[in-house]
Amino acid sequence: MTEEPPAAPLPDRAADSTDEAPATRSRFRAALEQGEFVVTLEAVPAASPGGRGVDSLLQDAADLAADRRVHAMSLTDNPGGGHAIMPDELAQEIQNAGLDCIVHFTCKDLTRNGAISRGYALERMGLRNILALTGDYPNDGYWGLSKPSFDLDAVTLIKLLRDMNEGLVDVDPRKGTPAPPCDFFVGACVSPFKLTEAEQMTQYYKLHRKLNAGASFVISQLGYDMRKVQELKQYLDLHGIDAPVLGNVYVLNAGVARTMNKNQVPGAVVPDALLSYFETFPKGKEGRPRFLEHAAKMFAVVRGLGYQGVHLGGFGLKVEEVKEVIERAGELQPSWQEHLREMVYPIEPKERQFYYFETDAATGLNTTTPVDRKKLPNPGGGAQVQYRAMSALHGAFFQQNTTGFRLAQRACHVADGNRLLKGAVHWVEKLSKEVTVDCRECGDCALPHLAYLCPDSACPKNLRNGPCGGSFRGKCEVYPDRDCIYVRAYNRLKAVGREEELRDGPMVTRNWELYRQPSWLTYFLGRDHMHVDVPEAWKPKPSEE
Ligand code: SF4
Repeated sequence: MTEEPPAAPLPDRAADSTDEAPATRSRFRAALEQGEFVVTLEAVPAASPGGRGVDSLLQDAADLAADRRVHAMSLTDNPGGGHAIMPDELAQEIQNAGLDCIVHFTCKDLTRNGAISRGYALERMGLRNILALTGDYPNDGYWGLSKPSFDLDAVTLIKLLRDMNEGLVDVDPRKGTPAPPCDFFVGACVSPFKLTEAEQMTQYYKLHRKLNAGASFVISQLGYDMRKVQELKQYLDLHGIDAPVLGNVYVLNAGVARTMNKNQVPGAVVPDALLSYFETFPKGKEGRPRFLEHAAKMFAVVRGLGYQGVHLGGFGLKVEEVKEVIERAGELQPSWQEHLREMVYPIEPKERQFYYFETDAATGLNTTTPVDRKKLPNPGGGAQVQYRAMSALHGAFFQQNTTGFRLAQRACHVADGNRLLKGAVHWVEKLSKEVTVDCRECGDCALPHLAYLCPDSACPKNLRNGPCGGSFRGKCEVYPDRDCIYVRAYNRLKAVGREEELRDGPMVTRNWELYRQPSWLTYFLGRDHMHVDVPEAWKPKPSEE
């Protein structure tokens, strides 16, 4: 291991430099922008608008505001896919009481118009620190399952919020009708705690997309393999990513550890070996100090590795316990490297655990050399017939500036002006794509960006810009018997050396105006998200628009 810089100082209860910030300025944001070490605390709003859950949350916030070692409370947006009070009102009350807030903003319940409305309301309430997330799939609802929205995903939500900062939000972002600018400070999440190469690399690729879309800070998903925590920091450094990153330290108890071990909390992983270790702790209240000690060690490791903060959380975590973990972490700080070595918990089967960097034989941790991924086996590398056939077809007809493209474009132009021909194109496309990719006729085709897999049929969240964080051992969060579409896409692309297209491809957003239109027509006539070049003479005159 290379020599690490000294850990950043812990926040203390004395006034810090961010006290100089104007009253309207976020303490959390100012501290991150000034390079200070921050602590945030994740809290889950109660299921109902009042009662003890709300009272105790507000009491905790007042206590932490006075203590000052926690920079912000981070309020979740219906985790687990259920329904609870939205965090916005509570966050405003907490902020008015003197503690800064981060509001979680997911895509599971809102359309893009709903997201804009909520964004404007948050701006109006002075709630500008936002953690943009795709969100968990709905798991319950009044009169049955709620309709999953996922009209946006984390990447396009970040882009939307950043466009709102520029006053650029309109129904058609290309027209850019000015609106009063907002001042959101938008964060993104990433999980380094994935088992397979494909699952992990697509997480990292999506992080690049989130940062390119405008994310200003990063919070890691909760997880317990400290070698993976080390990996994420090294990955960011290797790729020159200097956005501040906070490491997640979630305080467990025996029951929650068992639930996570059974993969019943999307994206949260407690490996068998760690669960066995926790089972050596005394039962009940007597075991609590051991869980807090474990969290304090994790805190010290995260800080020692050079993260810019710790994102604390825990089911039923009390304010006094938060303070205890922060204090104990300070005492443990000098021995953080020892704790790093003792907290390596790969996901089982551990021989399949992918690490981005080579193993240091002496410590069992990472070296600074990335593994040669070309030499790793590709479980999806064999069955490439469909991919190769569709790729050849795409190259022949869908690549701009080819003869095939010009012919197909002209044919679509002719068909567009004739009801019968247009219907014929629609049916030929429908039949051929239903058989090959289970097409759902979105009219704004994303196949070329996803190794010719259809996000509308193969991903329950219809994600077009990268995987959600909910996969486990390469399987889908919603349908655990299916491979995640991004795992399949990565393996297909890796077989032909093109997997980085999942990182570098265009940001894709579906236009619902095109639903049930033949996507061949919408593509060739420049109406879908690709906006291919169309001869001037074919474009509608302003009076026709
Ligand atoms: S047109 Fe839409 S629904 Fe059909 S294959 Fe393409 S992405 Fe899937």
